[in-house]
Formats: sequence, structure tokens, C-alpha cells
Amino acid sequence: MENNRVILLLSGGIDSTTLLAKLSNENYEVVTVSFHYGQKHEIELNYAKKNAEKYGVKKHHIIELDKTLFKSSALVNREVDIVTYENNELPEGQVNAYVPFRNLLFISTALSLAETMNINEVYLAFNSNDKANFWDCRTEFIERINAISSSNTSIQIKTPFIHLSKTEVVKLAGQLNVDLNNTITCYQPNEATECGVCLSCITKQKAIENA
Ligand SMILES: [Zn+2]
Repeated sequence: MENNRVILLLSGGIDSTTLLAKLSNENYEVVTVSFHYGQKHEIELNYAKKNAEKYGVKKHHIIELDKTLFKSSALVNREVDIVTYENNELPEGQVNAYVPFRNLLFISTALSLAETMNINEVYLAFNSNDKANFWDCRTEFIERINAISSSNTSIQIKTPFIHLSKTEVVKLAGQLNVDLNNTITCYQPNEATECGVCLSCITKQKAIENA
């Protein structure tokens, strides 16, 4: 058993890049996994790749998922606009950027890879702000998946940031010298330029202001 090898789902955003820096700092051998699923912000994959290289990841997997699975999401469907928040007031409850069962697919794919590679830990960088709008970023969701996994394997999902706010993650990024300019957050960037008004952009701006 390779004890220090772990899998990390890496999106190219602040949270997962910070977790990559943390794991790398703690001398884990990190296998990174990114997904191409028709997301409008597929440029995030370039950032994931750059950071995987920067942190010396030996295996960076990019998994293709069929985008027709996610047509109901504004994050994927080009005919539906992402809701924006020009007044900086963030919504409660599910938003139209929610992607149906995306995280269950992402996590089960990572679990397949973990079992195949004989790896026992899969890391996700969900933070406590995510839970307000995404049911599939919550502790209960992860606990249930871990219960299924533990019925036949010792693989567990680890979410070390799940009780940290986005502001606390940004502070940790600073402590770990993560280059935030080398991450991308926006749901609908124009090339590499973030829109500044989507849920993800506003959350990031507030976190950076408060950090
Ligand atoms: Zn944006």
C-alpha cells in the first residue's frame, strides 16, 4: 500500500489549488483529477494543469463526461444565462449554476480511480460557503458516500476545508504562498477574464476583501 499517495479533485479554482499546496507541503504524493463536462468555464482546466505541474504532480487525469447529462444547468447550457448579482447580495438555496448530481459523478469517478490505484484517500476542497447553495457540497452528502465506500473498501473522502469559510481558505492560500492570479473562479469567464458578477466571482471578492 502506498501510504502517502492521495487523490485530489482539482478544478483550477482557489479552494482546490490551496488544498493542492497544503497536501504538497505535507509531502503527500498527489494524483489530481479534473473533469471536462461541457462547462462554460472550461478554461479552468488550463489552470488545473498549470498548478498540477507547478506542484510536481506526476499524474494529472482529465476525465471527459458527456455534457448532455447536464443540460439543465446554466453552467453548461449555452442557451441559459448564469444568474448574476450586480448588487453583491448573494442568494440562498439552489442556484441555476447547480449541475445535477455532478459531485456524485465526480466523487464516484475518483473512488473508481482510488480503488484501481490502491489509494485510500480522496480529497475535496469544499468550503463552508458552498453549502448554502449546493446540497452536494455538504457534510451529510460526504458522510453518506463514505458510508457506501466503507461497506467494501477503506477508501474515504476527506474534506479538510468543509468547516472553513472562503475567507479562511484565502488566508490559508496566503500562508502557503498560493498565487491566486494563477487560479480562476468565474462561472462565465471571457477567455481568462472573470465576469465579476456571478455567484462565484462575488464570493471570491468578498473572501479576498475579508481575508
Ligand atoms: Zn464570474
